[in-house]
Amino acid sequence: MEPSQVAIIGSGLIGRSWAMVFAAGGLKVKLYDIAQEQLTSALENIRKQMKELKESGFLKGALSVEQQLALISVCTDLKAAVEGATFIQECTPENLELKKKIFGQLDLIVGDNVILSSSTSCLLPSKLFTGLKHVKQCIVSHPVNPPYFVPLVEIVPHPETDPSTTERTYALMKKIGQSPVKLNREIEGFVLNRLQYAVISEAWRLVGEGVISPTDLDLVMSDGLGMRYAFIGPLETMHLNAEGISNYCERYREGMKLVLNTFGPVPEFSGEIEQKINQAMSEKIPSVPKVLDARRKWRDDCLTGLAKLKKEM
Ligand code: NAD
Repeated sequence: MEPSQVAIIGSGLIGRSWAMVFAAGGLKVKLYDIAQEQLTSALENIRKQMKELKESGFLKGALSVEQQLALISVCTDLKAAVEGATFIQECTPENLELKKKIFGQLDLIVGDNVILSSSTSCLLPSKLFTGLKHVKQCIVSHPVNPPYFVPLVEIVPHPETDPSTTERTYALMKKIGQSPVKLNREIEGFVLNRLQYAVISEAWRLVGEGVISPTDLDLVMSDGLGMRYAFIGPLETMHLNAEGISNYCERYREGMKLVLNTFGPVPEFSGEIEQKINQAMSEKIPSVPKVLDARRKWRDDCLTGLAKLKKEM
């Protein structure tokens, strides 16, 4: 059965973004938080964002701002929040004990047809859900910030998750316009962060060894690799950069192995290299809230433009 009503637990940065994504998809959303002021600020923020999106032509979905806002209600009572919902997206702070407590509470009140989904960035499903009565209905749906413009969702099952839970979650994400990917089993960092950390760690080593400056390192990605990665992944890149994958391997396998064998150990991400990178980044973007926020706004505007371009291609 397709859900028509979802509950979101936690109305911070990610919770409010999910609320907008689900409402754009035409679903009724109940937003729950322990703090009433968080809910008030979430609603204000959602209204403001939707209006801006409408003005700039980027509002998602077939419904108007008012229709989407009318789908979202808020609540500080957990039982009332999940009443009638067939999909629950947990978005509380990244704290294992807190999330376990919340899933423990939800386990006691939900029926057998409700999906319990977590937004966690790095807690493994086996840590979050083991021992729950409804473990078959539990899953991680890891979004990327900001989910409104970066559609990827990593769907990560617990070893005991029923395949139908994975399929229903996948179908729901598709329905609301996100881009879900299924992991066949849990793994530390899921896939997105494993790829991200591989890049970060080599970036750190190259700057640390003085091969390149921090700002030039970032340019290698933003004006180089990243340009194509917004459209094709690393495997398709291999396929297109030769006459197919086998031809790429034939041509470049030894060269790739030679380079990869020169990669160093996992960096400490501290000390002198940290100071050097911090200094360079802070010269470019001073670490004060106003400047950081302005730069985040610029980043989100770029992502909005990119999302539009991708849609048109
Ligand atoms: P946040 O701190 O902005 O929001 C957390 C919200 O949870 C707050 O509104 C807080 O009041 C509420 N909360 C705290 N305890 C609660 C409880 N017991 N019951 C209900 N609500 C409670 O955090 P966030 O950045 O939105 O992150 C939420 C989750 O999403 C985390 O697991 C995080 O790892 C994941 N995530 C974050 C990002 C990101 O970039 N921020 C990206 C992907 C996934």
